[in-house]
Amino acid sequence: MAPSPGRQWSTAGPGRWLLALLAVLVVVAAFLPGFVPQVAPGRAGTADRAERVDVSPGATAEDLVPGVPFRGTVPGAALTADDRVVLAILADLQRFWTDELGELDTPTGGYAAVGVGATGSDVLCLGGDDTISFNAYYCHDEDGIVWDATSLVPSLRARSGDAGLASALAHEFGHAVQARLRPEMFDRDTPTLITEAQADCAAGAFLAWAAEGGTEHLRLGQDSMARALTPVLDLADPPGVDVLDPAAHGSAVDRATAWLTGARDGTAACWELGDELLGRSTLNVGGGVAGDSGTDPAAARSARSSDEIITAGTRSAAAFADRVGLGGSVDADRIAPEHAPGVPDVDTARRIGTFAPAAAAVQRVGFERIGSRPGAACFLGAWTAWTTESGWTLVSDAGLGSGASPGRDPEQLGTVPGDADQALRLLSREPGVRLTELSGFVTGFQDGYDPGIRACQ
Ligand SMILES: [Zn+2]
Repeated sequence: MAPSPGRQWSTAGPGRWLLALLAVLVVVAAFLPGFVPQVAPGRAGTADRAERVDVSPGATAEDLVPGVPFRGTVPGAALTADDRVVLAILADLQRFWTDELGELDTPTGGYAAVGVGATGSDVLCLGGDDTISFNAYYCHDEDGIVWDATSLVPSLRARSGDAGLASALAHEFGHAVQARLRPEMFDRDTPTLITEAQADCAAGAFLAWAAEGGTEHLRLGQDSMARALTPVLDLADPPGVDVLDPAAHGSAVDRATAWLTGARDGTAACWELGDELLGRSTLNVGGGVAGDSGTDPAAARSARSSDEIITAGTRSAAAFADRVGLGGSVDADRIAPEHAPGVPDVDTARRIGTFAPAAAAVQRVGFERIGSRPGAACFLGAWTAWTTESGWTLVSDAGLGSGASPGRDPEQLGTVPGDADQALRLLSREPGVRLTELSGFVTGFQDGYDPGIRACQ
């Protein structure tokens, strides 16, 4: 998606900040964090005709979500095609959560589609002067879901497909369920990072159910799950956001980890997510030494060309592979072109950041040593952990290092906060990327070289 540059997102909703302060409650919970999202160029994954939303062109709101109040993009007029698609997905969400919980109290405030610039609408938690742009909210006090129908919905569909749109809606619906099951999540002293992780987890659980054919309207194809994950990768917090920031949604790795937890373990695991996330968050993890002691790693890296960074990444990956027992000769059959990851797109990588070109090179080394795309992604995750300070410590503790800087990346690429997100975003841009690759990266990164690297093979 391509939000307007410089736009500041507001979690509390414009015009509601004073009430939010007074009410001692988080009034709304947005899909996007309160910052300009980090968006990589291009469409996520590949187009897949199997992915669609099946809904009758004549279906009304009452047909799709009977008994739930609905305000369309054009109030009083017939549904727009996008309104119908959104309501069909919300109908699937109602069915999913009814199955999960036995019964579901549908949102009493209902659903509302609002056009950009539609001020004075006074819809749900949007005050009379508020606008909503490239976002969707669960409005806690009103118990309803509102979304930007003219920018958010079409841009999500264009960039991340119906799977990506479903992921965003499932996040907001997750907040509605959260309000029923875990109302304390809306207390002011509950870190937003946890509230948002639970909603991302709920979204992953719903998409997994859809992938198994549980949904009536949403149809997913082979690559849909990876595409469904891309909005949370694109719309994560940039480096610099504190884990206790009242608008924090987490890094891309944090959000992907929560989403994958739901997809893998189901909804029960979502409501268990709690304070441990604060210590596990990858927000601002990084900042390792590059070059001589005292050199700013960001400045040192910026001074190198992309070609130099790719060369350094390749050498660093080879050194890492040797350390973790993946060195030695490579079976040529394993790197047949039809199995290899796409040739690293240096232009794309460069636009993502200075770490991404190295990540592209490391992924290829991982493929050469392990022989599968998920294995290569996992290798990249483990290597990324290794290049961070925590990664060095792990290797060093295991006695694998030598010399004055045991286990340190000999190429001294250094790390800065946001590097792991760059590597994950690069993977998500690869044509035909599958969920197994994105989850492979997260596994490799979270577990580090051991046991993570063994899980890669
Ligand atoms: Zn949220």
